[in-house]
Amino acid sequence: MSTNENQPGPNFIRQIINNDLKNNKNDGKVVTRFPPEPNGYLHIGHAKSICLNFGIAAEYNGRCNLRFDDTNPEKESDEYVESIKRDVSWLGFEWSELCHASDYFEQLYDYAVQLIKQGQAYVDSLSAEEIRAYRGTLTEPGKESPDRSRSIEENLDLFQRMRAGEFADGQYVLRAKIDMASPNMNMRDPAIYRIRRVHHQRTGDDWCIYPMYDYTHCISDAMEGITHSLCTLEFEDHRPLYDWVLDEVKTPCHPQQIEFARLQLEYTIVSKRKLNQLVMEKHVNGWDDPRMPTIAGLRRAGFTPKAIRDFCERIGLTKQNSWIEMGVLEYCIREDLNENALRAMAVLQPLRVVIDNYPENQVEQLEVSNHPQKPEMGKRIVPFSKVVLIERDDFAEVPPPKYKRLVEGGEVRLRGSYVIKCNEIVKDADGNIVELRCSYDPDTLGKNPEGRKVKGVIHWVSEQHSHPAELRLYNRLFSVPNPDNEPNFLDVINPDSLEVLTDCRVEASLGTADPDNRYQFERTGYFCLDAIDSAGGKLVFNRTVTLRDSFEKD
Ligand code: ATP
Ligand code: MG
Repeated sequence: MSTNENQPGPNFIRQIINNDLKNNKNDGKVVTRFPPEPNGYLHIGHAKSICLNFGIAAEYNGRCNLRFDDTNPEKESDEYVESIKRDVSWLGFEWSELCHASDYFEQLYDYAVQLIKQGQAYVDSLSAEEIRAYRGTLTEPGKESPDRSRSIEENLDLFQRMRAGEFADGQYVLRAKIDMASPNMNMRDPAIYRIRRVHHQRTGDDWCIYPMYDYTHCISDAMEGITHSLCTLEFEDHRPLYDWVLDEVKTPCHPQQIEFARLQLEYTIVSKRKLNQLVMEKHVNGWDDPRMPTIAGLRRAGFTPKAIRDFCERIGLTKQNSWIEMGVLEYCIREDLNENALRAMAVLQPLRVVIDNYPENQVEQLEVSNHPQKPEMGKRIVPFSKVVLIERDDFAEVPPPKYKRLVEGGEVRLRGSYVIKCNEIVKDADGNIVELRCSYDPDTLGKNPEGRKVKGVIHWVSEQHSHPAELRLYNRLFSVPNPDNEPNFLDVINPDSLEVLTDCRVEASLGTADPDNRYQFERTGYFCLDAIDSAGGKLVFNRTVTLRDSFEKD
């Protein structure tokens, strides 16, 4: 067993585990789980928890289960279950066992019966509203329900009849009998079962009573022999209840709950409820919209599993909630793509360039490297011909100071190709520039002209060989760093979060772009093919992230 002493970035959870291993607690085993509720798609915050749980298990030669916390059937669905499995796998993790809280419904019921028999649970007929009113406040103790003194026999009978479906939804709940005066509100006789006639995606209509989260979670952990139950800080106040349930039902093992800070990322939200609202109210185009902080959205935007894992490692693990800058996530994806994305050329807003002294029907198949620093990534063919398209922005009729790109009478290099000179601007009747008449210097393929150095280098495509494409430029979904702090987060959606460019042209080789590849469109940004929207034969590319360097620095 690795003791993990040489792992980078020791954190408080590893310290706890190292200590447990030293004391041979849990027979030297490390078992964790990732326990999503299948009521939405996973987001970047979940990635932190996934990397932590699966990462810890891998480091210590332990096990990590994927467990669906499926006790709330009205909000859960198979679509969510499947998306969660896909996302965890895509991130690069393999679960030891696939589990469901619903696998334990019978056992959970038996344990509840046991609590009743021990005089530690009772069936309450107070309404939800009354229960809330009886609960007291942080400064005042709660009030005991009149049903708290119901006899064990009567409780057993009622609970059994709750299960049998004799009562209406909400007519009764089963509550743990703990302490209505506890300073911890979670300990004031929390509900552990409620009546809910809802079809469950796994157990169908077998049950009309469902166990509550706090009661279910700890028992599920114990059933799976989890050693370290890692969860976010908001569960700290629930830990006494977690421990109480396990102590009182006497499960064969007692996992240790350890809390860590949840990820909060600037300019976005990580709440499934709010993400769900964005989708349902169509503020975005689905859970996998590339602007969404969901794993599915990030994947569609072109993020790599490696970059997301790297991000989760980098942000570290603490017990203090804090905000992480979006720049950290962007840094991680740029690092990966700078290293691994294939280079290619795409022109976003094409301007026609006719090279007058280039032979009419000639085509040269230029060989260009796919990555300037990595010859092992190979080369591709970029056809060159008499008419090329350049970026409108790369020509200036009235150039600003220090402008290094094309001007009338000036020269510029077409990347991987020749130096051209602009001789004439052609305009339409309204004075718009429609094309440039240029000449090329045949001696400049791969070298500078005699005695001169041409500073500007611009990208281009051959008009005749390039493909029309749609480029989708994504920006931050919200216009303020903490949308969660707004009275209504919908009010601060960035109106410019998506810019669609429909008249782009991409180089010939991208006609067969692979959706699994990532591309750096030279000087423009990192992109990937949108496999879904390109299915009809149209080429659609999503911008994953901008290049670090802005245009002006060229
Ligand atoms: P949300 O607040 O988005 O609805 P949740 O906690 O209700 O999230 P679950 O499906 O219960 O969603 O989460 C599964 C696991 O992921 C839990 O252990 C939870 O603590 C963890 N988790 C959820 N959000 C974050 C986050 N932002 N950072 C780290 N871990 C998170
Ligand atoms: Mg939750």
